[in-house]
Amino acid sequence: MRVLAIGAHPDDLEFRMAGTLRLYVERGDEVYMVVSTNGNIGSTRHETKAEIGAIRHKEAQVAADKIGAKELMWLDYDDEFIFDTEETRLRMIDCVRKARPDVMFAPPYMRDYNPDHDITGYLAFIARINAGIPLIKTDYPPTTKIPPMFFWIPGGMSYTNFAPDHFVDITSVWEKKLEIARCHRSQFEDWGGDFFGYALSKKFEAENRYFASQCGTPGVEFVEAFMNQRTFPMVAGAYKFLP
Ligand SMILES: [Zn+2]
Repeated sequence: MRVLAIGAHPDDLEFRMAGTLRLYVERGDEVYMVVSTNGNIGSTRHETKAEIGAIRHKEAQVAADKIGAKELMWLDYDDEFIFDTEETRLRMIDCVRKARPDVMFAPPYMRDYNPDHDITGYLAFIARINAGIPLIKTDYPPTTKIPPMFFWIPGGMSYTNFAPDHFVDITSVWEKKLEIARCHRSQFEDWGGDFFGYALSKKFEAENRYFASQCGTPGVEFVEAFMNQRTFPMVAGAYKFLP
């Protein structure tokens, strides 16, 4: 199976779904990753945007390699400044065409705290269908099917419409997820601690434990949660596309 996971920043996918991606790889599926912005303002410790952008690109590639992804597509838009334009739509369509996914994951576009999440999620939502339209010309040929798409969890659930309906047990790869997430050294403790006063590593651990508690299944300690995109065309049996 071919999996396309789309993030807005160079740690979104690792913090929210590295366990799920790792499970795909371990069972022999092909994982393709897209990161739409370069994260070039995510630091209070570096002097220039170029400096932190380069660090984050390197961190993202190391993390993608640890996941075992086939490819990391780095779109390199400025952090906080990706917009819905003809150019960004075509680039996202090309990512979908290149990956030819059986299943897609994207940021939920539901007024999350960060505009890059909403815009990137919306671009993914558009590209999922438009990638198959032959009269839209890009570098790669059109896809031949419309895959199911799942949203990964937003920054907060209390102010969005995120209601997870699919749960992946990542207990067996929890240590691996930590190892992958730690590749983002500039973010794992530094950025969250410096800017928000809260280590981001604590956040996803709490979330993964919380969703496990919601599942209430013996032996299940860590869970990543997703929400199926509820729009036409819904794909029957979408759950079969999750590990
Ligand atoms: Zn993000």
